[in-house]
Amino acid sequence: MKRRTIIKGLGLLPIGGTLLSGEPLYAAPAGSAKRNLLKELGIRTFINAAGTYTAMTASLMHEEVVAAIAHSAKEFCMLNEVQDKVGEKIAQMVHAEAAMVTAGAFSALTLGMAGILTGTDKEKIKQIPHRLESSGIKSEVLLQKAHYDGYEQALHNTGVKLIPVETAADVDRAVNEKTAAMHFLNCNAPEGKIMHEEWLQLAKKHNLPATIDIAADVPPVSNLWKYNDMGFSFVALSGGKAIRGPQSAGLLMGKKDIITAARLNNSPNGVTIGRGMKVNKEEMLGMYAALDKYIHQDHDKEWKVWEKRIEIIHNAIKNIDGISTTVFVPPIANHTPTLRVVWDNKKIPISRDEFMERLRRGTPSIEVIGNKEGGFNTTVFMLNPGEEKIVAKRLREEFLNTKTS
Ligand SMILES: *Cc1c(COP(=O)(O)O)cnc(C)c1O
Repeated sequence: MKRRTIIKGLGLLPIGGTLLSGEPLYAAPAGSAKRNLLKELGIRTFINAAGTYTAMTASLMHEEVVAAIAHSAKEFCMLNEVQDKVGEKIAQMVHAEAAMVTAGAFSALTLGMAGILTGTDKEKIKQIPHRLESSGIKSEVLLQKAHYDGYEQALHNTGVKLIPVETAADVDRAVNEKTAAMHFLNCNAPEGKIMHEEWLQLAKKHNLPATIDIAADVPPVSNLWKYNDMGFSFVALSGGKAIRGPQSAGLLMGKKDIITAARLNNSPNGVTIGRGMKVNKEEMLGMYAALDKYIHQDHDKEWKVWEKRIEIIHNAIKNIDGISTTVFVPPIANHTPTLRVVWDNKKIPISRDEFMERLRRGTPSIEVIGNKEGGFNTTVFMLNPGEEKIVAKRLREEFLNTKTS
């Protein structure tokens, strides 16, 4: 092989060092900064007028977050030290005794529950999720019936059984020596019979930790600390939704003993239930940078920008015959101005799916999200500046097209 061919081949291998000649193996190929892998691989990119949806890669990271990732990618650190230092700062920011960066809110729920179950007992850590009862580990978690939405699987993954309850009397009856915790799903709070304060009182009465999933419930920014202030033992939050941290990052915040134990159940501290939920230093620092930026930004100003954008899109389509539109703000979870669009199929003869497919196939491609009313919703908090005009124009064009064709 010619020397040049060898260098080219080695450049992709995960080994460090330099060639004998002193040329760095990792010297970026000329022009690599401009290389567009998305284009090269034919991956569709789109304007996200839908919201923070996991399958749509949720959110875009701000420059500060990308810079934190890029910079830390060039240095070695001890992973536990990064988590220590980042966790300490984040804990202060969110009024928690302790905090850690996890691989998303789902992982935060699993690790937090694992921490409650095992404490710092290394033997117990080895027993979950399969040998809870035979190892004397508590194995039941109470959850209101209205709070089952699928994400409780994250708790189930630790081996616990979920016990449905509805009323305070149900809780009193259900608690026994196997009960490990009482879990709450914030976004379904209005559907349940027991609200936060009462849930916390019941947990206190039975001397149990109360835990909460607030994954998509920021904004408002105050929710970052609200549930820590209320006294939940742990709070799980997504990092890659509106906070715009790395998509596969999240936060577990709460009591120090739980976070300490959760970390023992996670990488790099042994072969545990959390070993596959590794978070790299880049994402820990990226999450910290995202949170720092998010907390300090001007939320009122941002809200006004969102309202203005929604208005632009709304104005472009609201007078089209056959369309009905509503602007609303979901009270909890994805709490951001949202435009609901539905239409009369007799006046506008196109199915929702076909309409969305046309938006998707256009240039630029646009994603909105189907709603349960048979139309679609659009939000603007994931738009880059100016994209609202493109979305407004395209929606109007597509609707007018279907009317005349
Ligand atoms: C998104 C979401 C999760 C999962 O969060 P990830 O950060 O993607 O792991 C869990 N619970 C609720 C209610 C969510 O909305």
